[in-house]
Amino acid sequence: MGEFIKVEIDSNRCQGMAESNEWIDVCPVNIFKLENNRPVVVEENEDECTLCMLCVNACKSGTITIHKLYDQ
Ligand code: SF4
Repeated sequence: MGEFIKVEIDSNRCQGMAESNEWIDVCPVNIFKLENNRPVVVEENEDECTLCMLCVNACKSGTITIHKLYDQ
């Protein structure tokens, strides 16, 4: 988990967008990677998240949640 941001993938809801490389590329700061064909979070990159919400908007199954671990 990042110190300021936690990016969560709900694997129970994930419908396998990982089959497309577009999934990996949607994040400008490389928060996601494939592991055994499933998307996972690269935890050491989490604090680089810009809160752009491209990933949240790209995922049709509502799998991704971005948690801000700080106030404001
Ligand atoms: S909100 Fe933007 S920067 Fe953060 S994980 Fe999603 S695509 Fe990457």
